[in-house]
Amino acid sequence: MTINTLFKKYIQLGSDDTTSKTELKKIVLFNVFCLGWQLLSVVMAVDEYKEHSSFSVILLSIAMSSAIFMIQFIHYKKHHLLGRILYLFLLIGLTYWYANFLFKENLLEFYFFLVFSKSLIFIDSKRINLVILFIAFLLFFIPNFFFHHYPISMFNDVSIAFLFFAIFIIINYFKNINRTNEAELESKKNDLEKINQFQSQFFINISHEIRTPLTLIKGQIDKLKESDLSSNELENIEQGVDVQVSKIKKMVDDVLDLAKMESADFKINLKTINLNNLIHKIILNFEPLFKEKNIDFKYTHKAQLFIKSDVIYLERALNNIVINALKYTDRNGTVSINLELSKDNVIIKIEDSGIGLSEKDTKKIFERFYQADNSINKAGGSGVGLAFSKEIIELHSGSLTVESELNKGSVFKITIPKTDAVKEIKVHKEEIKEKTFQFDKLVLHQKSYKFLLVDDNREMRAYLADIFKENNCLEAENGAEALKILQENKVDFIITDYMMPKMNGLDFIKNLKPIYPDIPIIMLTARSDSKSKLDVLKLGIDDYLEKPFEKNELMIRVQNSLHNYQKRKIYRNDENIHHSTKNTENWILKVSNYVNKNVANTSLKQEDIAEQFHLSKSSLYRKIKSETGLTPKEFITEVKLQKARTILENNHTISLKELSSEVGFLHNSYFSKLFQKRFGTSPSNFSKSRT
Ligand code: ADP
Repeated sequence: MTINTLFKKYIQLGSDDTTSKTELKKIVLFNVFCLGWQLLSVVMAVDEYKEHSSFSVILLSIAMSSAIFMIQFIHYKKHHLLGRILYLFLLIGLTYWYANFLFKENLLEFYFFLVFSKSLIFIDSKRINLVILFIAFLLFFIPNFFFHHYPISMFNDVSIAFLFFAIFIIINYFKNINRTNEAELESKKNDLEKINQFQSQFFINISHEIRTPLTLIKGQIDKLKESDLSSNELENIEQGVDVQVSKIKKMVDDVLDLAKMESADFKINLKTINLNNLIHKIILNFEPLFKEKNIDFKYTHKAQLFIKSDVIYLERALNNIVINALKYTDRNGTVSINLELSKDNVIIKIEDSGIGLSEKDTKKIFERFYQADNSINKAGGSGVGLAFSKEIIELHSGSLTVESELNKGSVFKITIPKTDAVKEIKVHKEEIKEKTFQFDKLVLHQKSYKFLLVDDNREMRAYLADIFKENNCLEAENGAEALKILQENKVDFIITDYMMPKMNGLDFIKNLKPIYPDIPIIMLTARSDSKSKLDVLKLGIDDYLEKPFEKNELMIRVQNSLHNYQKRKIYRNDENIHHSTKNTENWILKVSNYVNKNVANTSLKQEDIAEQFHLSKSSLYRKIKSETGLTPKEFITEVKLQKARTILENNHTISLKELSSEVGFLHNSYFSKLFQKRFGTSPSNFSKSRT
């Protein structure tokens, strides 16, 4: 051990790892003063001995050293206050003795200034400091009246008394400033340490969270190496990868958005929405997951409630809370979502019978990166979900609170101001009207159509039936059942799921098309069913919609399809055209392929198609119109828009400019408008809602 470290250890005697920085400074000063005093007593003893050869001074020095040593020992044993008070009284006693007896008339009385100064340095208690000051003051003045060491006028001077107190006040003042600064520094340091700790924990968790899906993705990719995979197995792999990629994406998006929210220009886009529809959509999304865990999942609501919301962000905020309810509730538990109205607010309560939270944790779970200490968290989580949800809900002028009891469950309560439903329904309708451009005559509410809803999920069928409640809706659980219903009923429109038992959506369409070529169809697909989408789209007129979908989007797609089929029917009747489905389907597919190949060409015209297919302009017009209900120009646009949609589905980050030029539009805004009209959502919202 070097002298340096030895010295360091010595001056820190009486401290440990838990000692605060301010206290450590006092300890160091105390030990340094003690050491200084010890050295001083040795020097004094040697000096006195040299001059007077008296052993009494040496004995006195030894006594003094021992006393200091004892006091330092008491201090070292963590009796800091006692040690320091004893130190001060030793100083008082010695000063009194030296000044009045041992070395009198040497102005040693002024050492009393040191006494209260040191008291201010070592001791925080105001009362003790004042007592020491008082004692020092009395011992400074009073003995002089008895001993007459100096002319009486010298120590009787008011200015000296003034000096005594002035020095006390000045030192006290600087001590206070210093103390406040140190406390501030200490708290900032603690905050920084806490953030640091949170961040380290966050990175550990995020790495863990990402590693799990990555492992699963790798597993799926490894499966691809096996030969002889059936198309079903390939589809499963594709779905498996998709689910895991979405998980990573969701997490990264939450983190990035949370960071974005710190900037002043982060804004959400509020529009009136029907909250029941949004909650319904969330329920549909989560139902299978709750079922898998055997959790009783309930939803209650009283009325149709409307709020102003950025539905994309609000959905994510609500999803986080529902995901937590799923994550922190054991098998066989219950989770319920309750929607109610209270005065001017809509209240969404998400209640679970899960692991619950301690009182301390309920106060902290909305802080970024905070995670309660429980076994589920050890296996992952990022601690950003609830912070994100709270900030989003507050941007909706709402609030998010929690009531919870450990091992009993939690209730998350979201309060958002309601909006006038009647007025907003009007806006809602106007919005739809606006989006459906010239379809006024075909607006769904003006004529009752017969819909066939094909889905194995009863809830989904009920949801669709509710959307089209002003029309006549028939329901089937799968393709085979739907074909049977079609034998007995004339249907105007079919909405079908893709994944269904017995006969899936694709087989259903294949069976249906040759017999009923004139019924428009929309297929609802999962995000991963990209292969099936392409098959469905072969005519460019049938449509698909990814689950989960927006009600408005679905309505607009339905109206678009109805509109095109209607036009085709009218045209065929007028022209009296008879057609053979198979051949025309193949022909239109060829035209569609040709347009797709030349999709980036901004000046692609119907003349080019006519030339390519050796037809006159008017024959081309007739053929396309009779098959699709669209003019050649509209058909080119349709194929281009479909292409744009496919691109967007595979590339969420593509800019509007890039996208419009990839599909051959010169002007972004024009392209965006057409896209919105066609699919019920703008290109940017389209990719946002699919992330
Ligand atoms: P995490 O990714 O850790 O779930 P969140 O921000 O979503 O991050 O949640 C923060 C913490 O709040 C969680 O770590 C968990 O301890 C606690 N928590 C959230 N929801 C619930 C719940 N429904 N029941 C019990 N604890 C919960």
